[in-house]
Amino acid sequence: MTAVRMDGVATAAAVKSELVDRIAALKARGVFPGLGTLLVGTDPGSLSYVAGKHRDSVELGIESIRVDLPATATEDEVRAAIVALNDDPAVTGYIIQLPLPAGIDENAMLELMDPAKDADGLHPMNLGRLVLGVSGELDSPLPCTPAGLVEMLQRYGVPIAGRRVVVIGRGLTVGRPLGLLLTRKGLDATVTLAHSRTVDLADEVRRADIVVAAVGVPGLVKADWVKPGAAVLDVGITRRVNEVTGKAKLIGDVDPEVAEVAGFLSPVPGGVGPMTRAMLMANVVAAAERL
Ligand code: NAP
Repeated sequence: MTAVRMDGVATAAAVKSELVDRIAALKARGVFPGLGTLLVGTDPGSLSYVAGKHRDSVELGIESIRVDLPATATEDEVRAAIVALNDDPAVTGYIIQLPLPAGIDENAMLELMDPAKDADGLHPMNLGRLVLGVSGELDSPLPCTPAGLVEMLQRYGVPIAGRRVVVIGRGLTVGRPLGLLLTRKGLDATVTLAHSRTVDLADEVRRADIVVAAVGVPGLVKADWVKPGAAVLDVGITRRVNEVTGKAKLIGDVDPEVAEVAGFLSPVPGGVGPMTRAMLMANVVAAAERL
């Protein structure tokens, strides 16, 4: 492997350690940060992500409020749970674990959240502030995965300003907000947002100084697509369960051979996932600081 491995676990630990004093200062003035989660159903990936978020909360001394509903929950029951989280003073920030089961209108549920408690930065008002270029820690939350990706690039000293970035995937939680974030003044990247209808994706990727793959197709990005020395950040997650052991393995969108060509590589697992969780903790702390 020639690429520098971007260690999401170590970087996330550094981000979380920087929150410790801020949490202590909040508690000293009687504000107790609390993370709520709303999970509907029993998707194994979602269960594991929610459990990880509560582990991080416990580690940092943030209160954990967990609301789990069965996959059969009606939209009215999900609405009622969101209203209760909005009203619960112990919850200073919360997330709705996505995706919600088919038949429940995700956008309507996100819109029902109190934007001041939206720890994932996905309420339309917070996404609007991202479009306006006015969001950030002091004002309103940024979506966690894009914020974690930028934090990782900055902490590894990867230049962003003026660089060509190809983001593959235009989903709500990663690709679309990441394009907005990287092109804002101060970060100043030139971003191409690619998707399933992009013609000659390999050619687009070959021009990029930074490649972010947020698709969910294992091994999509091949070594001969990557410009030598480019930074490649893998976000995609496909869970493959071993039929014999029953254990799940996470597979990313980036072929392992890319490590021989890239300058930096953020792998799956151990890259962007832990950073996403660390940025969620940062959003919960920042929301409590705004109280
Ligand atoms: P999504 O909403 O389903 O979006 C997937 C995107 O990939 C879509 O824009 C789709 O294009 C595009 N796509 C599909 N096949 C493609 C192909 N062959 N070539 C180019 N583009 C293709 O998913 P998401 O929520 O953004 O998540 C993307 C991946 O990131 C998933 O694997 C998810 O598990 C993972 N993820 C990881 C983290 C983390 O913290 N590590 C956080 C969030 C998500 P169209 O728009 O044209 O359909």
